[in-house]
Amino acid sequence: MGLTTKVLLGVILGAIIGMVFNQISTTAIGSWINYYLVDGAFYIIGQLFVNALKMLVVPIVFFSLICGVCAIGDIGILGRVGGKAFILYLLTTGLAISLALLFAANMDIGQGLSLSVTSDFEGKASPPLSEVIISLIPTNPLAAMVSGDMLSVIFFTILFGIGLLSVGQQGKPLITVFESANEVMMKVVLLVMQFAPYAVLVLVARSVAELGFDLLLELAGYVIVLVLALLLHLMGTLMLILVITTRLSPRVLLKKMRATQLFAFSTASSNATIPVTLKAVTQQLGVNRGIASFTVPFGATINMDGTAIMQGVATVFIANLYGIELGMLGYLTVVMMSVLASIGTAGVPGVGLIMLSMVFVQVGIPVEGIGLILGVDRLMDMLRTAVNVTGDAVVSVIVADSEQQLNKAQYYQSNSA
Ligand code: ASP
Repeated sequence: MGLTTKVLLGVILGAIIGMVFNQISTTAIGSWINYYLVDGAFYIIGQLFVNALKMLVVPIVFFSLICGVCAIGDIGILGRVGGKAFILYLLTTGLAISLALLFAANMDIGQGLSLSVTSDFEGKASPPLSEVIISLIPTNPLAAMVSGDMLSVIFFTILFGIGLLSVGQQGKPLITVFESANEVMMKVVLLVMQFAPYAVLVLVARSVAELGFDLLLELAGYVIVLVLALLLHLMGTLMLILVITTRLSPRVLLKKMRATQLFAFSTASSNATIPVTLKAVTQQLGVNRGIASFTVPFGATINMDGTAIMQGVATVFIANLYGIELGMLGYLTVVMMSVLASIGTAGVPGVGLIMLSMVFVQVGIPVEGIGLILGVDRLMDMLRTAVNVTGDAVVSVIVADSEQQLNKAQYYQSNSA
């Protein structure tokens, strides 16, 4: 049985176990299960796995990006690749949020519902754009690596790679060292992924066990519209952009991204999924390693189509509940804000809600309103993260294709390693 099938089985079994646990949670045995399994063993096993993935992120990005820069070998090309990726990421996120707003506004969700805010939600002020730009250049690259500050790490690593390229012959031994380090890291990824099916099972079981099913029903309008908008963007917009720009088969991409989507779904973190996305994009979809090593971590940080969609749907939903008319200007502000907010925030669980509070502050919707959707957000986070990583892969393929750095034979090969 292939890893994808095993992971898929893990997700399904996890969901079933989680539902059973959820149903019996109020019984005596249920509280035992909650204490020892859900918040005990499952929590520990799941977290061990997520930690292991996160542990790999900085070394993988560092080594593979240096090798990538050296493989591309030309600073001009590097700049072009960066520019294309940046524009495409902004474009897809902008399209995602616009689509979500349009869709949700036409569905009239939240209209006439009366829900009360059950939990407190403290908003966060948005980091000023100037800060986001300034922090691109780390004052201390090691500190940036230690805190996993991806944009700074990417910046430093590219600069290091350029330096390494420029020294010519003298840099060769170091390049060889980084190349072997890169190979080693890829092997470590494989090793960690062997545990994936079990880890995914407990991660999903835990999330489902803690899910408020009553709340899910109560918020059915929001949840259904959100899921539909996510699907529409995943299967529609993203695939359309892929076909228009590359003429490649979207079915192949969706099929080859399935395992990565399941990882993203289970961990709810684009960042933690970077090692898996990188592997799929280079080894399955045939994107040149040099390009992918840049576009994938960059995308995990700045590209969040699924998150933008959640923000669009949530904005309309909560604005309607409060009876707030957003108007054209309000909608435009939401689009701008959510694209900007996605740039400065990393792909970690739950960050979408924090970004949403920044959007709400700008358009004058009470931030406490977010408390209404808090209970279902973990599940929504899992779904939107799967869309986020697919967006990263689509843009990587488009950029690679435009640079003639896509191995089409490998893209279409059915069982490429
Ligand atoms: N969990 C998402 C990601 O990692 C971000 C979010 O929507 O909260 O991409």
